[in-house]
Amino acid sequence: MDPQDLISEARARQRSALDEPTGKKLLAAYGIAVPRSIVVAGAGEVDRAFGTLKPPVVVKIVSPDILHKSDAGGVKVNLKSAAEVEEVIAAMMKSPAVANARVDGFLIEEMAPAGQEIVVGGLRDPQFGPLVMVGLGGVFVEVLADVSFRICPISRLDAQEMLTELKGAAILDGVRGGKPVSRNAIVDVLMKVGGDGGLLMQHSADIQEADLNPVIVSDTGAVAVDARFILTDS
Ligand code: ADP
Ligand code: MG
Repeated sequence: MDPQDLISEARARQRSALDEPTGKKLLAAYGIAVPRSIVVAGAGEVDRAFGTLKPPVVVKIVSPDILHKSDAGGVKVNLKSAAEVEEVIAAMMKSPAVANARVDGFLIEEMAPAGQEIVVGGLRDPQFGPLVMVGLGGVFVEVLADVSFRICPISRLDAQEMLTELKGAAILDGVRGGKPVSRNAIVDVLMKVGGDGGLLMQHSADIQEADLNPVIVSDTGAVAVDARFILTDS
């Protein structure tokens, strides 16, 4: 499928953003690893679909009205059986934060290998065009604003420098005896997002904001476990 069709379909449905399953299809089209997943309409479809995934899994609500899924009780990680998943979906549907929202379905996806959570983002500047951003996730981004930006398209050297520039960069080399995470895997993601022919350059007319939060990076690879794309007005 042409990745541009993902955006056109969302626009045809009057959506101002890509939902998470669609955002992840867009990432996958650019070679960025995302968890294997299925989308179900409700608890009744879980049993049939569950067998295609390798537990443990995560369940997430898919709703255009819920931006921060965790805050709304719309994310549950580490579920080990179809029965657990069914229970979680039933409970989510009953929760007050969800009751008033339009619900498109539930995303069930495999857990990413453990690692360091980072954030990769994109922004369309009216003057400079697409910018790409990287940060170390969690408090590093939210409290310390430890992020670095470049104008697209970036080179591999730019991507490497973006990481070196982070005040918390030492986290990538391993904390408390942990293994270093793969900087190369992060650079690969940054190139696929912000490089020449990357996602932001190819869709610069359509993408106002991109948020891969988090990308989970281990010593061998990087998996984008959340994806949000806000579309430009058109
Ligand atoms: P939101 O940001 O909307 O609250 P996320 O999709 O980012 O929801 O999920 C919340 C958190 O759950 C993530 O920051 C991550 O720590 C964890 N998580 C989500 N999906 C996965 C996954 N597939 N594998 C491992 N952890 C996950
Ligand atoms: Mg998130």
